[in-house]
Amino acid sequence: MHTLEARNICKFYDTRDGVLTVLNGLCFHADRDEFVSFVGPSGCGKSTLFNIITGLLEPDMGSILVDGDDRTGRSNEKVGYVLQKDLLFPWRTVLENIVLGLEVRGGNKAEALDKAHALLKKYRMQGYGNKYPGSISGGMRQRVALMRTMITDPEVILMDEAYKALDYPLKITLESELLEMLREERKTIVFVTHDIEEAVTLSDRVYVMKARPGEIVGEISVDLGTDSSDIPTRRMSRHFNDYYELIWKSIASPVSAAEEVA
Ligand code: ADP
Ligand code: MG
Repeated sequence: MHTLEARNICKFYDTRDGVLTVLNGLCFHADRDEFVSFVGPSGCGKSTLFNIITGLLEPDMGSILVDGDDRTGRSNEKVGYVLQKDLLFPWRTVLENIVLGLEVRGGNKAEALDKAHALLKKYRMQGYGNKYPGSISGGMRQRVALMRTMITDPEVILMDEAYKALDYPLKITLESELLEMLREERKTIVFVTHDIEEAVTLSDRVYVMKARPGEIVGEISVDLGTDSSDIPTRRMSRHFNDYYELIWKSIASPVSAAEEVA
């Protein structure tokens, strides 16, 4: 049984030009301790897929299973979502933004505050609890967005291009922290990016998507030969280029790359 499993997910939209097939029969899975990425061009349906996984959107066909339970079209407390834009509420302090994750679920306020303080400490942001999002850096805001998800203790964390807008050094720091967190907390991370380098560096497994209709055209298991969470160390692995090439080939020419693997 997989932590997260999607079976034959299809999504269509009626448009003025006829029916648009956004997702065409997607099947995939992700397990505990696993970092799984989806790589694909803009418009291939990555955000639509995430909205289906979280139950915000219902697929026209197929099902989403979490720990073997059919959760299609229903919200799920086991799945947390970190969006591309951090989407913190500017009128709430950092602490109030973090507890929001639990507040919306009607949790105990004092307990939520305790958890939020523990998270601030863990992510080396003690002293920032009473600041407002507008007065902290973009990297810190992304950390707060992650804490807001982590406070609900999800099994699966979905991240939609969460680090896209950050400076390279900052991105590397946050990604190293993320891998460290995955190792300690034993979660499942499902990550969306259009950046092959990022996917290879972070992932245990990569699904390659193409657009119109959105389909999975490749699945690549990555083994960089290191257990390090340090992004530069992973990036400099001598296996890195091989995986980069494999993924690039399946994007550039899905059919021939598939033949090559087979
Ligand atoms: P990605 O996140 O990979 O960039 P999206 O999931 O946002 O892609 O969008 C996939 C495709 O679905 C795009 O072509 C987009 O225009 C289309 N789309 C998304 N939402 C709707 C909608 N509500 N109605 C019609 N088309 C939509
Ligand atoms: Mg998107």
